[in-house]
Amino acid sequence: MVNKEEVLIVGGGIVGLATALRVMQSQPETRLTLIEKEASVAQHQTGHNSGVIHSGLYYKPGSLKALNCRAGYQQMLDFCREQSIPHEICGKIVVATSSTELLGLEELHRRGIANGLTGLRFLQPAEIREIEPHCSGLRGLFVPQTGIVDYGAVARKYAELLAELGANIVLGETVIDIQRQGDQVEVIGGSRTWVGRVAVVCAGLQSDRLARKSEPDLPLRILPFRGEYFQFTASAPKLVNHLIYPVPDPAFPFLGVHFTRMVGGGIECGPNAVFAFGREAYKKTDFNLRDLSESLTWPGFRKVVTKYFRTGLGEYHRSLSKQAFVKALQKLIPEIQAQHLEPGGAGVRAQACDRQGNLLDDFYIREDGNIIHVCNAPSPAATASLAIGKTISDKVLSLLN
Ligand SMILES: Cc1cc2nc3c(=O)[nH]c(=O)nc-3n(C[C@H](O)[C@H](O)[C@H](O)COP(=O)(O)OP(=O)(O)OC[C@H]3O[C@@H](n4cnc5c(N)ncnc54)[C@H](O)[C@@H]3O)c2cc1C
Repeated sequence: MVNKEEVLIVGGGIVGLATALRVMQSQPETRLTLIEKEASVAQHQTGHNSGVIHSGLYYKPGSLKALNCRAGYQQMLDFCREQSIPHEICGKIVVATSSTELLGLEELHRRGIANGLTGLRFLQPAEIREIEPHCSGLRGLFVPQTGIVDYGAVARKYAELLAELGANIVLGETVIDIQRQGDQVEVIGGSRTWVGRVAVVCAGLQSDRLARKSEPDLPLRILPFRGEYFQFTASAPKLVNHLIYPVPDPAFPFLGVHFTRMVGGGIECGPNAVFAFGREAYKKTDFNLRDLSESLTWPGFRKVVTKYFRTGLGEYHRSLSKQAFVKALQKLIPEIQAQHLEPGGAGVRAQACDRQGNLLDDFYIREDGNIIHVCNAPSPAATASLAIGKTISDKVLSLLN
């Protein structure tokens, strides 16, 4: 059976859903179907993250991350307010614990200002302790805009609004092929086929595989990096009020293990960043032969291993040893002890890597005629989802009209 539509979206994560929502809000008469392989939306990165509404502090001024995070931040707040989704702007502190990190903290401050943040404030050790009494560091940076939310709840609300606007959401259908047929696009699922005028692929951890269907020489692969969390036990002393971040390693695309208060209660510590042996390998023992061999045979992978060998070993050590994980956390909160923590959840980041072993830092949207592929949408893509969705929706509507 062939189903005819105008717009076909693959992936029911926050980026696919936001894109669909922006299309339907701009042009409500559009016939749109979104196809998701899982039984419900938000089952991968969108449902397994830190839940932080990022302010736009970290990103290179002018980058897609910076522009979409700043615009998406405000859109996310407006959306949560309009839809009564629990969220909180609690602010965060970034804390330098060594002299080299002091330079990194200054660079963050410069970037924050260049990205239009106001109210950033350097903190002396005593001021750090006024905000977070158990935190120690040489200098801190207070970022008032940062907030917390449950992105799974946000994505489910996008899906609910899409259904009200008349979009069709198909769950439990894995897209196995995408092909251009004349000026139409054929999206082939396990049990049915759709034909549309434009297709947008927002498949997160599987995005490169679907991009290679229409572009076999795609110069990228997705490498999966698992992020593991611990959480404070119910009986642990209250050592953290809000959000405490380290100064990130500028050579590594992840933010470093941090303390995050969750909007539903509880404090999480993490995530680390270990190369995962499968794209959906949420547990240390999960393994997928196809995923692993595709990563290992990608020329860029070997270069990543060489480039990040020491950092990667440290991440594995902290993954396998709770004591090592706790030691990393003690840099920020010296009083924290292993018995205060129990294992929490985990998420797997979809990180695009090129042939030269560069981990793509910025968002990457690849346009291939009437097929648009979101090839790299790491953090802060959840915060930025409505802005990314608007950018892609504008491209979709210009192809349709
Ligand atoms: C550990 C971790 C912490 C993070 N913390 C934050 C944070 O605090 N703040 C922030 O803004 N961002 C954060 N992020 C990033 C954020 O979660 C992601 O950028 C965002 O969720 C990406 O959304 P997505 O829709 O692109 O991908 P996903 O949520 O992974 O969605 C992709 C969807 O495509 C579906 N799919 C894949 N293949 C197919 C197929 N063949 N057919 C049909 N469907 C398919 C999948 O099932 C999935 O539902 C974090 C990410 C991780 C992993």
